[in-house]
Amino acid sequence: MAGSAFSTPYPSFSLDFGSVCVHTKRICALCASSPESRAFARGSVEGISGVRERRGSDGGKRKRREEEEESEKGQLYTAKNILVAVGGRPSKPNIPGIEHVIDSDAALDLPSRPEKIAIVGGGYIALEFAGIFNGLKIDVHVFIRQKKVLRGFDEEVRDFVAEQMSSRGVKFHIEQSPQAVTKSYDGLLSLKTNKETISGFSHVMFATGRKPNTKNLGLEDVGVKMDEHGAVVVDEYSRASVDSIWAVGDVTNRLNLTPVALMEAGAIARTIFGNEPTKPDYSAVPSSVFSQPPIGQVGLTEEKAIEMYGDVDVYTSNFKPLRATLSGLPDRVYIKVIVCAKTSKVLGVHMCGEDAPEIIQGIAIAVKAGLTKQNFDATVGVHPTTAEEIVTMRNPTRKVRRDTAAEAKTTHEAVSRK
Ligand SMILES: Cc1cc2nc3c(=O)[nH]c(=O)nc-3n(C[C@H](O)[C@H](O)[C@H](O)COP(=O)(O)OP(=O)(O)OC[C@H]3O[C@@H](n4cnc5c(N)ncnc54)[C@H](O)[C@@H]3O)c2cc1C
Repeated sequence: MAGSAFSTPYPSFSLDFGSVCVHTKRICALCASSPESRAFARGSVEGISGVRERRGSDGGKRKRREEEEESEKGQLYTAKNILVAVGGRPSKPNIPGIEHVIDSDAALDLPSRPEKIAIVGGGYIALEFAGIFNGLKIDVHVFIRQKKVLRGFDEEVRDFVAEQMSSRGVKFHIEQSPQAVTKSYDGLLSLKTNKETISGFSHVMFATGRKPNTKNLGLEDVGVKMDEHGAVVVDEYSRASVDSIWAVGDVTNRLNLTPVALMEAGAIARTIFGNEPTKPDYSAVPSSVFSQPPIGQVGLTEEKAIEMYGDVDVYTSNFKPLRATLSGLPDRVYIKVIVCAKTSKVLGVHMCGEDAPEIIQGIAIAVKAGLTKQNFDATVGVHPTTAEEIVTMRNPTRKVRRDTAAEAKTTHEAVSRK
């Protein structure tokens, strides 16, 4: 293998791609919140399929007529509180040839292994699929509209993950917007962007965002406010603009993560049924991107920390982990710890490298608890691990001060261990 000190670090392998997709879907179906799921089967929750609209409560003739019509079509249900948790779905731009492309749902349902794939989008879903396909030795091209992947993530992590993915074989095409997809007589696809046309793709996948599933629910008819993307607008308790309607998860487009949807739902349960008004707490929510290498992050990005706190000390480290040193692989790890200069509180930790998602879960407890850099420094490392770096970063790479003229770069520029 290229970059290895040894001739055959990995044995060759074969893979039945179709079976992997079938197995993956089976696992997803087990986890999904469908009426068939384990939670429904175990508990006292009744699952009803085919729910569509909620009617108004004006009590007028029109309402009665609608109810009569509706009960003819199916069963009409009424409830004191209605919780909307319908999630989102992939959204694709309406360009010529869009019928030839797949989305992330279809990418988990392919009958055979792609030979060469174009992935349009620079968000986490695009990068995760790029990593999976690249790992299967598929020729992967990622097209992003901007200069960098992962908008909203820490700037240096954005650069680092793209570099690492490139070094593993993923080809990035930056500042390119898709304009058309065409299919040739042999079934292969071409992607035309504002800059170039690349042909020979067996698949083109769009990971260009997701839209809340609010179409055809009748929410507008009863006065539920939605934003320009169709997300239900809610207050801090997840209550919509109609008092009896609540919404959680991706349909509200706040922080679209599974554990966050769970937290929001738990807060609503306490608010409505526990007589204990509870707001979900979005501070120090950790998250990961399962790219290759993966990212783990918790707390503020450096940019956000500077905006909110002004004076911050930034500790960074970019190094070759022991495992890569031994194997000769080119893998590296990037870690950043952001500290409030005034209080010494750790405001954010960002990591890109092997096991980052596992490591960040533990670090998130410390950040959520508001621990200081001294607490981190006083913690003994586990040797020899990648994670020990987080508690042994003694000197800041830079000290950013509100008065930018006073920004001091220390002599310890980004620690780079060979
Ligand atoms: C490819 C991909 C990878 C992801 N990876 C991660 C990850 O690693 N970690 C993470 O935390 N998050 C991840 N997410 C995000 C995560 O899946 C969502 O944030 C989470 O599922 C949101 O939960 P939800 O309940 O709001 O919506 P969903 O989980 O989407 O559930 C909505 C449910 O409502 C049903 N529904 C829709 N319309 C109707 C209707 N009209 N009537 C009745 N039912 C309806 C749907 O069928 C579905 O069962 C990922 C998302 C994608 C697409």
